[in-house]
Amino acid sequence: MVSVQNLKKSFDDVQVLRGVSFECQPGDVVCIVGPSGSGKSTLLRCINHLETPDSGGIYVDGELIAYERHRNGRLIERKAKDIDRQRREVGMVFQRFNLFNHMTAAENVALGLVKARGIAKGAAHRMAEDALAKVGLANRGKAFPRELSGGQQQRVAIARALSMEPKVLLFDEPTSALDPELVGDVLAVMKDVAAGGITMLVVTHEMQFAREVANQAIFMDDGQIVERGRPADVLVNPQHERTCKFLSRVQ
Ligand code: ATP
Ligand code: MG
Repeated sequence: MVSVQNLKKSFDDVQVLRGVSFECQPGDVVCIVGPSGSGKSTLLRCINHLETPDSGGIYVDGELIAYERHRNGRLIERKAKDIDRQRREVGMVFQRFNLFNHMTAAENVALGLVKARGIAKGAAHRMAEDALAKVGLANRGKAFPRELSGGQQQRVAIARALSMEPKVLLFDEPTSALDPELVGDVLAVMKDVAAGGITMLVVTHEMQFAREVANQAIFMDDGQIVERGRPADVLVNPQHERTCKFLSRVQ
């Protein structure tokens, strides 16, 4: 479903991704954990075309998302077709919701349907209300972001991403900006979304969610995958010293 092969990315002189490779199958929920600065967000951002990798390949459903190759500092090959369409097929939910504050919840969700999927306004609005109902926000479509809690805003962001019917949904620390009492609702919605069978890559520090919902766990450190496998192995009985150290800090 998603296949990442030897992905490398530097910012200036700092190599942030040093050859990252992994694969997942349709319907997989992959949790990515690791210390701050290990490259987790950069990895997701490469998959969603928000960053361009220096080299390596990303495939979604067999289709090449990104590939660049350099020799002696010169770009010798670049392939990535249909970036707009590919972005539609890869949804993303950010730590800080990224809603438009001057638009209602329903307008936030409908916007992409109208702009990116070419759906007529009235129909898009009805689809937005349906999407909001699925994340427990029926009848809140007319609310502006400032009238919603952080957890509700994040659920609007999830509804917005889902309404585009992506093949893969990326989550970058979706609950870490929330007050603790609001985290549970958002995780419950994510659990529902996962049960619906969509492929998800989730960067999170919520170890219980990772152990319960994910079927693959990746531990990253310093731009590399240190350990990867079943959450029951990687997050419960890690093999590597660095994973043990990290887990002892976050649990
Ligand atoms: P966190 O857990 O804090 O979110 P992370 O694992 O998501 O960390 P990244 O955000 O991917 O880490 O960053 C990895 C490294 O790349 C960091 O050292 C960061 O400073 C650097 N970096 C990320 N984006 C940029 C950028 N646009 N320009 C320069 N450096 C960047
Ligand atoms: Mg990050």
